[in-house]
Amino acid sequence: MKIYNPATGKVITTLEADNVKTIKSKLAKIHVQNNAWQQLALDERIAIIDTFKTNLLESKDALTNDLTLETGKPIKESLAEIEGACYRIDYFTAHAKEVLKEEYFNQNTNTQEKLSYEPLGAIANISAWNYPFLVGVNVFIPALITGNHVAYKPSEFASLTGLNIQASLYQSGVPESAFQTFIGGKEVGEALLSEDLDGYFFTGSYHTGRFIAEKVAYKLVPVGLELGGKDPAYVSEFNSDINKVASSLVEGAFYNNGQSCCAVERIYVHTKHYQAFCQAFVDHSKGLIVGNPMDKLVTNGAITRPQHLAFLQDQVEDACQKGAKLLTGGNIIPSEGNFFEPTVLSNVNHSMKVMYEESFGPIIGIQEVKDEHQALTLMNDTQYGLTASIFSDNEEEAKHFMHQLDAGNVYMNCADRVSPFLPWAGRKRSGLGATLSKHGLYAFCKTKGWHFRKA
Ligand code: NAD
Repeated sequence: MKIYNPATGKVITTLEADNVKTIKSKLAKIHVQNNAWQQLALDERIAIIDTFKTNLLESKDALTNDLTLETGKPIKESLAEIEGACYRIDYFTAHAKEVLKEEYFNQNTNTQEKLSYEPLGAIANISAWNYPFLVGVNVFIPALITGNHVAYKPSEFASLTGLNIQASLYQSGVPESAFQTFIGGKEVGEALLSEDLDGYFFTGSYHTGRFIAEKVAYKLVPVGLELGGKDPAYVSEFNSDINKVASSLVEGAFYNNGQSCCAVERIYVHTKHYQAFCQAFVDHSKGLIVGNPMDKLVTNGAITRPQHLAFLQDQVEDACQKGAKLLTGGNIIPSEGNFFEPTVLSNVNHSMKVMYEESFGPIIGIQEVKDEHQALTLMNDTQYGLTASIFSDNEEEAKHFMHQLDAGNVYMNCADRVSPFLPWAGRKRSGLGATLSKHGLYAFCKTKGWHFRKA
């Protein structure tokens, strides 16, 4: 399997992809009967995961380099991703014991009761490329801490990082019987679906997530899906610093070139601020530096998947044909690599693909709204429900508004943010179940209810 650098179009290296035979032999290794990992005390597993974090930090330069080479992500964002992943690991290592502790009930009665947690067994972690460390850590860290064995399938666009993760886990003390990496594309992921695994945890697109859920439904094992989004933001009439709001939303829309599940993808602006906001947003967008992601000054590197350039161009053309105004950008940048201009469209509406289809790129539509009610109706008019935000100086207005947003994560005066203390969960086509927080530990456990009656 050839691994390409999306910033140059050149082959970085060639890897051996897995095939039916290697998939079977790797799965045999992590069969739950090889249960050395499960037999370790929770404290011991936590200590090993803590060592993994230390190893990541110690080798962050090499890891950052590979991540940028294979995804086209700016080098400083690659570093921020590794540091962010370590912060999430810290959450799990610090809180797992408290969350997973046994609970006792009715101690003073004839029948005493206890609740305890057990690992699911061997689970599949089929993962995405846009934040391979972050979305990987959301799954394999709590899965390992709770005693599961993991069949980890990194995206074909983040295979080097996947192998780096495996090497670092082994170096930290995670045994080969607890973690195996499967290299390859769609067919390798699909091969895992018919295997005897005890749970499927997927990060990626709605269509693949739905396919996986349908395919494994007959097994009646847990399925967790972290899928796409079409995340809206509302700039209310109660704003005194439109320039600051525009700067924050440019970051929310264009960080990682918009290739974030929780990137801001639609902006609704109250009439009072519409013109000023559009101008400020364009000004800030023009300050972005598109180019070689290895350059520390670059803010926007390459688009990871070459085929996505035509998809982005189509969204721009569709919007313009239907009456949108192109304020800046709009084009593929001629180059050996995959580059697209940060693009701002105003005068958009919900008949345009850019306002209902996940862009997953540096494109934003800005729509004028007359009041809060119209903003809310438009924001909830989507098949997705991952995040939604309001920018307002009026906290009361913002909180009332947030209650009515149909999304798993709501923000006031910020966006594109994930906290390990809170469940990361999408509604509708954005997902099923949750990762992170205590819910992201329970997701990898079976409960056992104990009833003790004295003879
Ligand atoms: P994708 O669905 O194309 O691929 C994801 C993974 O699934 C890859 O490892 C791929 O090889 C594998 N795969 C593809 N087809 C498969 C099949 N038929 N059977 C089994 N496995 C298969 O998604 P992607 O391009 O890697 O990621 C982008 C998408 O992920 C976006 O929609 C983005 O919003 C979403 N995402 C969501 C979150 C979240 O937390 N909600 C985080 C990151 C990315």
